[in-house]
Amino acid sequence: MSLKYSRVLLKFSGEALMGSGDFGLDSATLRQVVGEVKTLRGLGVEVGIVVGGGNIFRGAQIAGAGIARTTGDQMGMMATVINALALRDVVEDMEMDAVVYSAMSIEGVSHGFHANQVQKDLKQGKVVIFAAGTGSPFFTTDTAAALRGIEIDAQLVMKATKVDGIYTADPMKDPSAERYSELSFDEVIAKNLQVMDMAAFVLCREHNMPIRVFDMFKKDAVVRIVKGEDEGTLVRP
Ligand code: UDP
Repeated sequence: MSLKYSRVLLKFSGEALMGSGDFGLDSATLRQVVGEVKTLRGLGVEVGIVVGGGNIFRGAQIAGAGIARTTGDQMGMMATVINALALRDVVEDMEMDAVVYSAMSIEGVSHGFHANQVQKDLKQGKVVIFAAGTGSPFFTTDTAAALRGIEIDAQLVMKATKVDGIYTADPMKDPSAERYSELSFDEVIAKNLQVMDMAAFVLCREHNMPIRVFDMFKKDAVVRIVKGEDEGTLVRP
């Protein structure tokens, strides 16, 4: 099968792992998400993953009443480590190799980010999971996805969302909303569309890193994307 992309950075939020609950992790959902990773690996695609932490803590929400924003953000980054560890084990349980690199050092739990080693791991077919976002407060895991995607020479950032792409209006509220198949970075700015947070978006734009917004739970979406077919919305230079 001819593929357009052979190395991708997959970003999903913590909420994507929550299933129908409102906190924490749902094991069936975890397996479903990792099943999509397995599909990609089965095609020979090298996969890096940045996972969020919003299913446990978000810094901006927890801050206040004596908890500083930077502390809240550290808690949020640790939440992403919790998710990364769960993901790693499920990836291994589904018979793939996995490794966690964390932007905050946690001895005995994860490796510190090491660009050269990550390249080797990806070439060996390991699923590389990046935890703790950028390691700095006031950022999000979207920015980490842009950053790691660029650092690992991914050809595409695949951002999983609840909706299968970017629409002219909120498709949940407006039945006449239409999906954009493709948009340029400049069009996204001109139309004031929310793709990722601004820091993430600017990084991708500066480094010509295309972003594909898609629904992780839609059958065959990941396969269609790596084949370069019309799925979700492509944001490109
Ligand atoms: N966070 C941070 N720096 C980063 C990435 C994440 O401080 O580089 C913190 C921040 O508090 C954020 C939380 O970790 O709210 C969880 O990440 P995010 O909100 O991006 O998770 P998602 O919404 O994707 O689940």
